[in-house]
Amino acid sequence: MLPFKLVYSDDYYLPIGSHVFPAEKYKRIHDRLLASGIAEPSDFVTPHSATDEDVLLVHTPQYVKKLKTGTLSPREQMELEVPFSPALVKAFWLAAGGSILAADYALGDGVAISIGGGFHHAFPDHGEGFCMIHDVAIAIRRMQRDGKIRRAMTVDCDVHQGNGTAAIFAGTRTASEPLPSMPNSPMNPLHRAKTPAKTKMHTGHAGDVFTISLHQENNYPVWKPPSSIDIDLPDGIGDDDYLAWLDNALSSGLRQFEPDLLCYIAGADPYREDQLGGLSLTIEGLKKRDELVFRVAKTRGIPVMVTFAGGYAQNVEDTVTIHCNTIVAAKEVHTA
Ligand SMILES: [Zn+2]
Repeated sequence: MLPFKLVYSDDYYLPIGSHVFPAEKYKRIHDRLLASGIAEPSDFVTPHSATDEDVLLVHTPQYVKKLKTGTLSPREQMELEVPFSPALVKAFWLAAGGSILAADYALGDGVAISIGGGFHHAFPDHGEGFCMIHDVAIAIRRMQRDGKIRRAMTVDCDVHQGNGTAAIFAGTRTASEPLPSMPNSPMNPLHRAKTPAKTKMHTGHAGDVFTISLHQENNYPVWKPPSSIDIDLPDGIGDDDYLAWLDNALSSGLRQFEPDLLCYIAGADPYREDQLGGLSLTIEGLKKRDELVFRVAKTRGIPVMVTFAGGYAQNVEDTVTIHCNTIVAAKEVHTA
């Protein structure tokens, strides 16, 4: 039995037809966890759908109304990049309910993982990049409203910048100051060939939610609203450089800010065989990434809730492995 809960429902499946987003990954992860003995049935808890009231803690009434009545404009539907349907609205409301439940369990058990969610490209008034509503932001605002936490930190390791997260929690940030960068590894010719620019780290003051995003600079979204800390990584960066930057970002963030809850957005798309990513992390490197986040949080006694966000490996089984490894990493750190 795992020392924490896994939040999951078969209804996490996103009804988007044939799509680069492998909507069946959630069920595949669930099934693999059971088949491999990593988890047993009693480790899973089933979420309820978020209420409209929960969703309205983050999203505008106008946008929620459009979603509930199916009245998005053609342009808004296009930006979403997944085919709109009432069934899809239901699936996203359930994902938000799952993140709320995971946040709640994390506060009790130290960690909880939702086998879904991480829809970090949703803004208060619109959705984009496969993300209709921002489940993680909704969970944070719900925990705050219920008086269970005051401050939260998001650590977004999806290969794409967390633009929705940054916009939602922009708070009272002051202008960001670039910090001195670490040199790129001279061993990796990709850095020199494709990106003469160094990794850039930007930081700014945060409000009640501190946002960290490590992402590939030359990738969606084109416009990246400032997070509290943004690490703009050059194309092709590998395990060692990535882990050094993650360590750096976590140390820097936790020097400035003491969260009551850490929301880890564990995208599988920094993987070197990802179809929508341009970084070069290995499956082993991604597991070390997860371990680093869990270890740092555990050392400081900060509860962690996890969502899975993107993952578009050529071979969907690799995406499933990377996500399952996040659970293995949490287990190893939390039983050590
Ligand atoms: Zn992504």
